[in-house]
Amino acid sequence: MTIAVTPPAVGWDLHCHTVFSDGTQSVEYLIQEAQLFGLHGVAISDHDTSAGWQIAKAVSAKLSYPVMYGTEITAEEGCVSVHMLAYQYDSMNVELSNLFQKTRQERIARSQHMVELLSRDYPISWEQVVQQCKEGANTTIGRPHIADALVQLGVVENRSEAFDTIINSRSKYYVPTPSPTTHEVLQAVKAAGGVCVIAHAGDIRRNKVLLNNSQLEQLADEGLDGLEVWHRGNDQFQRERLLDIAQRKNLLVTGGSDWHGKGKPNKLGENLTDDKTVREIFKRGFMYT
Ligand code: AMP
Ligand code: ZN
Ligand code: FE
Ligand code: FE
Repeated sequence: MTIAVTPPAVGWDLHCHTVFSDGTQSVEYLIQEAQLFGLHGVAISDHDTSAGWQIAKAVSAKLSYPVMYGTEITAEEGCVSVHMLAYQYDSMNVELSNLFQKTRQERIARSQHMVELLSRDYPISWEQVVQQCKEGANTTIGRPHIADALVQLGVVENRSEAFDTIINSRSKYYVPTPSPTTHEVLQAVKAAGGVCVIAHAGDIRRNKVLLNNSQLEQLADEGLDGLEVWHRGNDQFQRERLLDIAQRKNLLVTGGSDWHGKGKPNKLGENLTDDKTVREIFKRGFMYT
């Protein structure tokens, strides 16, 4: 495929979070808003789960509006924390389900550890954090839920203030989540018939160290499908770097808002994936029924 070097003006938003992870809004709300805004379609991509897919499928049918099914998978490569978007995989695949379950367990243990550290200085409790999970045990827990508890306690104004201060990855209260490697995730997604794209690979605000060109090229050689170039975290320099790799390695170029509802300033549809690339993802992926 020839690669467009400017962000698409129309198309699909392929990176959105709901209450099944750390988004603040329901699956219904996401899909209704996408339709209302005139996006050509939308993907649900909650962290380390496909728990929202069934509802998404029902809403998609009810509104006659196209949805892509995805997950943003937590991974690591050396000291680099990496998010990998997996689309249209078989949600019944045992290996991938086990991988998600393990990461969600690690997320609970890690969040508990962070709350324990925070509780030395702030009146925060684990129960309070659990209460922020709108789908109970079906919610993939994370730092945003800790942030919401801190907002409730009046320690910070909003999630962004919490992320800029006490729950930041450089804070003394921060604990990382042990995660599978990028290679393990890629292998599992491909074995489950999915399409695998590295999310916000050039986000220097999120990561002190990014995956370098040879690490991305190695993943491309192992079967990686694409790179999420159109994302607010990637600056112009990083976009050009990623586009160059995509061109040389024949990778798909995607875009998405990383919408979290009221939890993040990102606006639904602020970054998009063109229709041709979306068609290619559906063609390569597994059909969720
Ligand atoms: P965790 O995965 O638990 O380390 O938490 C990081 C996640 O919080 C990322 O996926 C971010 O997208 C998400 N997040 C939600 N709201 C914010 C915010 N206001 N600032 C930064 N990250 C946020
Ligand atoms: Zn998130
Ligand atoms: Fe992410
Ligand atoms: Fe995300």
